Amino acid sequence: MTSPRVEIDLGKIQENARCLVRRLAARGISVTGVTKAVCGHPDVAMAMLDGGVVGLADARVSNVIRMRAAGIACSISMIRAPLVNEKNDVILSCDASYNTEIDTILKLGAAAKDQGAVHDIILMVEMGDLREGIMAENLNEFASRVVATQGVAFKGIAANFACLGNVAPTPGDMAMLSRLADQVESECGPCVALVSGGGSANLAWALGKGATGRINNLRLGEAILLGIDPVSGQPINGLHTDAFALFAEVIEARPKPSSISMRPSVPKQGQLELVSDGGQGNRAVLAIGEQDTNASGLCLPSGFGLIGATSDHTVVDTAHITLPVGSEMKMGLSYSALMRAMSAPDVAKSVHGKQSLKGIALDREPHRVLTLV
Ligand SMILES: *Cc1c(COP(=O)(O)O)cnc(C)c1O
Repeated sequence: MTSPRVEIDLGKIQENARCLVRRLAARGISVTGVTKAVCGHPDVAMAMLDGGVVGLADARVSNVIRMRAAGIACSISMIRAPLVNEKNDVILSCDASYNTEIDTILKLGAAAKDQGAVHDIILMVEMGDLREGIMAENLNEFASRVVATQGVAFKGIAANFACLGNVAPTPGDMAMLSRLADQVESECGPCVALVSGGGSANLAWALGKGATGRINNLRLGEAILLGIDPVSGQPINGLHTDAFALFAEVIEARPKPSSISMRPSVPKQGQLELVSDGGQGNRAVLAIGEQDTNASGLCLPSGFGLIGATSDHTVVDTAHITLPVGSEMKMGLSYSALMRAMSAPDVAKSVHGKQSLKGIALDREPHRVLTLV
């Protein structure tokens, strides 16, 4: 097997998706599977769909095109506001996009009209994460303009939490989003079909006991892929946290001083020499680095510790064990480590459990992205 590589257990991803879909359905909330951390890997997308997510979402149109090319025909949304330059690809490959700028929406509408399509628009509202979002006081005006724009259909509103800031949504925030949905409808009529309350950071609220109001969707990436609540960093009950594993090869292994410092060789004479602090540790140098993953987001085997990483090397303290050169170390990944590994060309991706997927999402007919071009 080539290394470095990410091994992906599709069965665990499917089970995580299924568990979240079931628990949220009981609360009247549908799940959109977010594929950006796996760069739209089609097998992972299929596992999410097999687990019952109602659609997919990604932040990059290149990832959506990859999924369409693999025959995935379900509804796919762009959760990052489209770039003006990619509007034609967005219309061609995505059913909907999350937006915050009226100029972009007008251009999407024009492109959709040209293509004889209607593109759904979801307006992202600023609710404290301070990344993207329309100010609440401008939402009605935005919504009326979308409703009046040809080529696009107003589909709903959404909020985002704990992306830029680490602020988890409160029940008050969610009540406010519900009120905003009502407020938009008081102006534009019953047009807010989707009220998407956020991502994995919102699960604690969504799975709680409070009223869900008009919130009827969450966009989940990290919870499905890693089984982790991004706010607390803790595993979510009942989910697999080991659907992904990273393997890297040991290219050097030997004991090294745990630290080296300068000190006088003969006390009081002031001559300096390099001395070790007395501690010796077994070290392994792995053939993987910051270009391939986020080393500080790796979960090393128990008892091992990360010494540091550069672009192409990662140094690990292997405690009392000397690993054979040429052997592989298996590691867990944080969301950011996973995201970088999945996008790194030198990291192989190896999927397991593909045969057990039902393949419900595969289009028998090629998607229009393939027929129109
Ligand atoms: C990344 C992202 C999500 C998914 O977030 P997770 O924490 O992975 O669940 C949802 N919505 C938007 C807008 C995002 O950028």
